Formats: sequence, C-alpha cells, structure tokens
Amino acid sequence: MSSSQPNLLPLLQTLSTQLEGALHVDQLTKTLYATDASVYREMPLAVAFPKSESDIQKLIHFANENGTSLIPRTAGTSLAGQCVGNGIVVDVSKTFTQILEFNKEERWVRVQPGVVRDELNRFLKPHGLFFSPITSTANRAMIGGMVGNNSSGTTSIVYGVTRDKVVSLNTILSDGKKVIFGEINQDDFDRKCGQQDLEGQIYRQLFDELNNPETREEIHAQFPKKSIHRRNTGYAVDELMKAELFEGKEKFNFCKLLAGSEGTLAFTTEIKIGLDPLPDPIEIVVAAHFVSIHESMKSAQVAMKHPTTAVELMDKIILDCTKESIEYSKNRYFVEGDPMAILMIEFRGKSLEEAMAKGEALVADLKAAGYGYAYPIIEPAMVTSAWALRAAGLGLLGNIPGDPKAVACIEDTAVDIEDLADYIDELDETLKGFNQNPVHYAHAGAGEIHMRPILNLKVAEDVEEFYQISLASAKLVKKYQGSLSGEHGDGRVRAAFIPLMVGEKNYELFRRIKYT
Ligand SMILES: Cc1cc2nc3c(=O)[nH]c(=O)nc-3n(C[C@H](O)[C@H](O)[C@H](O)COP(=O)(O)OP(=O)(O)OC[C@H]3O[C@@H](n4cnc5c(N)ncnc54)[C@H](O)[C@@H]3O)c2cc1C
Repeated sequence: MSSSQPNLLPLLQTLSTQLEGALHVDQLTKTLYATDASVYREMPLAVAFPKSESDIQKLIHFANENGTSLIPRTAGTSLAGQCVGNGIVVDVSKTFTQILEFNKEERWVRVQPGVVRDELNRFLKPHGLFFSPITSTANRAMIGGMVGNNSSGTTSIVYGVTRDKVVSLNTILSDGKKVIFGEINQDDFDRKCGQQDLEGQIYRQLFDELNNPETREEIHAQFPKKSIHRRNTGYAVDELMKAELFEGKEKFNFCKLLAGSEGTLAFTTEIKIGLDPLPDPIEIVVAAHFVSIHESMKSAQVAMKHPTTAVELMDKIILDCTKESIEYSKNRYFVEGDPMAILMIEFRGKSLEEAMAKGEALVADLKAAGYGYAYPIIEPAMVTSAWALRAAGLGLLGNIPGDPKAVACIEDTAVDIEDLADYIDELDETLKGFNQNPVHYAHAGAGEIHMRPILNLKVAEDVEEFYQISLASAKLVKKYQGSLSGEHGDGRVRAAFIPLMVGEKNYELFRRIKYT
C-alpha cells in the first residue's frame, strides 16, 4: 500500500490523535525511514513512534482494518531490507529503551527492544556478566533487532547466537493480544493447545505440523548441515523440533522460532535474555599470514581445534583499503610483507602466560601443517587497534567513491567449516565469471563469509547482474548444504531464494506458519 492512496491520510491523522506517541506522514520523515543499511529504498505509508503497548495494539488494529502492514524497527542497521517497506514503519528505538529487571544470580536481564547492545553490556560489566552475541554494529544495534535477525558475530563459536540467549518474549500478536512466549512443559503445551484464540491456534498448528514425521524428514533433508551453527534462512522450525515433544530433550519454546523471524510473526515489547560470565580478561591475537585464501581457510580448521574465541579473516583487498587511510594505516604495524590473507585468531586467559601458551600452541600446529608464512602474536595492549583494522576494512569498502559500490547480496553465506576452502574456491570462480574480484571478509571459525560484488545499481545491467550473482551464489550454497544467511537474515534480498534453499514443501510450511 502506498502513500498515494488518498483515503488513508485522514484515517492516519485520526490515528495519530489516538496515540500517546507520534505518527508522521510528512515526506521528510518518510524519506528518512525509506532505507535501512541495505540496497533497498521504498517510501513507507507512515512512521510511528509508539510510547506504549496500547499504541502498538492500535497500530496493529489500524493495519488489519486498512490492509496495510507494520514494519517493526529499532536501529535500522539491517543489511537485507528487513526494515524497508510500504507499510507503517514502527520505530521503538526512542521510546522502548528501558532495562526493566536484572537477576545476577540467575544470570538474566529483561529489557525493552530499544536497548542498545553495548549500552546493556556497560550496565552488566560491573556485575561480571555480559550479553554475548556481538555484531560489528553493536554500538547502535538494539536487542529487539538482534532478536529479530538472530544476530551473531565473532563470539558465536564460543557462546552461540542470539536465539540461544532468548529466554522469553513479551509480544503482541496480529489480533492485538499480548502473549508471553517462553519455555513450557508438556502439560502447559497441551493447555495452550486447548485455548480458543490465536495463541492456542499457533501452538496447535505447530504441533500438528511438526508431529508429522514426513514434515520433519523434509526439514532434516533440506535444511543446512547441522554442523553450521549460524543459520538464518527461513523460519527456524528445525530448532523447534529439538523439543521433547518431537525429537529432542529441550522444553518447547516458541521464542526459538521468533528469534530470526525478522518482525514477520509478532511485535516484541519485552525480551528476557540469558547472560554469560565475562570472558577471561587477557586477550591476544595470532595474526597468521597466508599466500592464498584457500590456505587460510584450511588453517581455520586447524585453529578450530584450539581453544580459540574468534577466527576472523581479512583478505588483501581489505588490507589494501586500509593502506591509504590516514587513520587506519598506523594499525597495520603487524602486517608482514603483502599477504593474500590474514587470519586473526583470538585466545584468552587469566594471565598473559596462559593466553600466550594457547597462541604459541596454535602457531606450532600451523607450522607443522605447513600453513602460513608469518605468525606475529599481538599482545593485549595492541589488540584493540588490530581489531579496529579489520572493522575498518568493511567500512572503507562501503565508501568506495563513485556509483559502483560493494553491495550486500551474497554477503552472508555460511557453510560447514570443512567445506569452507572448497566453497570459497568455487564461489571465486563463479564470481570471476561475472568479472568480479571478490572481497573476502569472513567469520572463518563459523564457516561464514561476507563477500560483496562491486556493482553500480543505478545501471540496469548491474541490477540484472545483482540478481544473477545472487542466484548463482544461492545454488552454490545449496550444493554445499549451507545457509544462504548466516547472521544478517533473509530480508528482501534473500527472500526470493528461500524455496530454492529449503525446498518448496518447507517453504509452504513457512507460509502456513506466517498466515496462521
Ligand atoms: C556494517 C554492518 C555490519 C554488520 N555486522 C553484523 C554482524 O557482525 N553480525 C550480525 O549479526 N549482523 C551484522 N549486521 C546487521 C545488523 O547490524 C544486525 O542484524 C543488528 O542486530 C540489527 O539490529 P538493529 O537494531 O539495527 O535492528 P533493525 O535493523 O532495526 O531490525 C532488525 C529486524 O528485527 C525486527 N525488529 C526490530 N524490532 C522489533 C520488535 N520490537 N518486534 C519484532 N521485530 C522487531 C525488524 O523488523 C527487522 O526485521 C551488520 C550491519 C552493518 C550495516
């Protein structure tokens, strides 16, 4: 629905008088909310800043009555177009910003969706705890959006992804009812199934669907390999199957599916998340240098046999970007020669000796395997600037002058780490076929690679190439039974490929879940 529908304007104006918060229909505000961090741009019908749950209920009621949609939004840093649409953008980043309750002993915190990830961790630090998933955008990404996208980052190989941390969610469903989802036992599950409302219907439908062995078989057959812990393609029905009701040992928790559902199933108003003890304080990084990406990816497998807390790749293109930067060139002090790739492999310990011993053990293994040519170990005082170099690479790539840009379309694939070297070789070959010399930016320990082709999306041929490259990448990921999205989500950019990734039957299952 677009703002050109004149009949909705008076209704929107009436709605705005009924909200405690604000509703804007002016061109400037709508233009500001027509984009997120993706390549998409679409004018919303309106932009709402609700102040209360009751405001959100009114917005839901309005959307139902008038055949439009709501687009929940926190910081809007999504890369796949999740926050762009022609409905009403509902921004909770300014009004739902409270840390509501904290339990140190039980290690959980209850927050509103607009709490910034790093701010939450500043609050938790004196208590020796933290919310472990970290995105590169953690200084502005908010917990609501992290749950929406099931975000993760360098820490995922140790601590898991956002989904693993969600304990319960207070939500408002599409019928306007407030519902809390969390872990429930068999008796409670049965009771929920007996409810004659939308909540009851959700539980009944999920049970009927997942209780069917054929459905479960199809999910096992089509979903990414189980060894891939970053998997954000489609709805996480595979996670629900781990419940004792079906195949596993866990209690049923619908939040497993809500995490990563990108605001398409319910509006979240409160989030209870589990916390981890702060990691050991002393951090060192082995910066292993390689003559090829392939060699670096083989080395990632060696690194993952060690007690590392992060294994991250920088390729030559990223390293070269930082050469010209006045700010970042000084952080290149540890770069020796002209490597095609550097793996940054982090180790932690209670003391420097402990952390160094872990790093040196890895260096010995890499040398024994014949991988790498230089292995400087970055000591604690310099670690922050070394990581800043890596973070800067992607930012600088985003600032290429002129119209061609490094665009996010195939930037989020994850495969089994055992497949990573071969997968990247094949992906490189595929991209060469499109005259692309890809940038490799990887959470290598998690099998995740952020590759971005350089395209000018103002030119029709490049828009077509954008699609063809995405399709070729999707086919390749499917061949390796990987996940088309590891952490950024499907959004608009990957939505078209969901049937290819999970098969038509599972796609239809997703549709039935969405339209319950
Ligand atoms: C340069 C760059 C680097 C990035 N690096 C990483 C990275 O390392 N790891 C990673 O995982 N991601 C990364 N991202 C993607 C993005 O930053 C994360 O997904 C982030 O967690 C999104 O948070 P946000 O507050 O911006 O959410 P938004 O973009 O505002 O929203 C994210 C999703 O959550 C939904 N949502 C928001 N609030 C609610 C609510 N109250 N109820 C229901 N649904 C809701 C939205 O509709 C949307 O679908 C990166 C992005 C950029 C631009």
